[in-house]
Amino acid sequence: MPIDAKAADILSRGWYKEKLEPHECEYLLTFREKSSEANLAVSLANRLVHKECSDVGQICAEITTSSGPCPGNCRFCRYAEASYMGKFFDIEDNVLARYAEEIGGFSDVRSIRLTTCADADLGELCRQIGIVRDHAKRGTRIFVNTRDLQADECRRLKEAGAYGAYHSCRIGEGKDTGFKPEKRLETISNLTAAGLQVISGVEPIGPEHSSKEIVEAFYRILDMRCLNAEVYAREPVVGTEFNQYGKLSPARLAQMKAVLTLASSWYDPPARIQYQGTFVSDQNCVIAQYDGKTGKERLEAARRRLFNNGFRRLLKTDDSTVELSLMYLRQTGSV
Ligand code: SF4
Repeated sequence: MPIDAKAADILSRGWYKEKLEPHECEYLLTFREKSSEANLAVSLANRLVHKECSDVGQICAEITTSSGPCPGNCRFCRYAEASYMGKFFDIEDNVLARYAEEIGGFSDVRSIRLTTCADADLGELCRQIGIVRDHAKRGTRIFVNTRDLQADECRRLKEAGAYGAYHSCRIGEGKDTGFKPEKRLETISNLTAAGLQVISGVEPIGPEHSSKEIVEAFYRILDMRCLNAEVYAREPVVGTEFNQYGKLSPARLAQMKAVLTLASSWYDPPARIQYQGTFVSDQNCVIAQYDGKTGKERLEAARRRLFNNGFRRLLKTDDSTVELSLMYLRQTGSV
């Protein structure tokens, strides 16, 4: 069957870094996830990512510094205090320091992200940034993923040594979460105004969301001077009402990421970071959850994933790169 001419035209324009309109992205998402049109979108987006980052992948280790029953009460989240039966968790200083040292073992984890719940104590988070700064490999970029913030709070994070923040205006914000979308977007503006690099997101996507909802969520962050955007599927959580919808298929998620990658190929980020790649970042940047039990294995899996996906080099903490070869995987215990 011949490929749809209109889809091919839109995809070509994305490849050549022309601006795509939201309705064009929605059109591309009307095709099934295994269609020729979807396959071409995924292929072009992959090639674009590899080209833009010069085949250099990077790893971000994410450490949860506090969790437990969360007053945010997002209806899809396992930590929502309305349903979560677990205890509060706050990481101990010596454990955080040890994690930061372990993560830096091969100097090939470019950033560390500290994640909290919605009731985070900002003073505590700033102190934890200091601990990571003191114990991580020199040059490691520190990001935070925390609650909505006022302008002065963003400046405090910056002064404490944060490089950036993950902050998204989620799909269903204000309806499925306890936060106003305007407040989420205002926090992104406050973060960028404070000089922090913001990674935003389109999440948590479920199979029931329409293409229009996904595209709208993406376009509202596209002109907010963010560094990157991550695109995530929602994890089904037993006990939440969204569990019944299940999880978006990997192929459909790949198609969405591809379309959004091509839609933002023209984007000029506020900071020119070496080997950044495209605005939709999660192909060349692997996030590895780091905890005491599985952290090391997840870093090893992150190296293998980048290797398996054809990235030829890995970004180090000093912005140099190392060849991501089979030998390197063996040297780092990753195979
Ligand atoms: S704010 Fe974050 S941790 Fe809290 S309920 Fe919402 S998604 Fe979960």
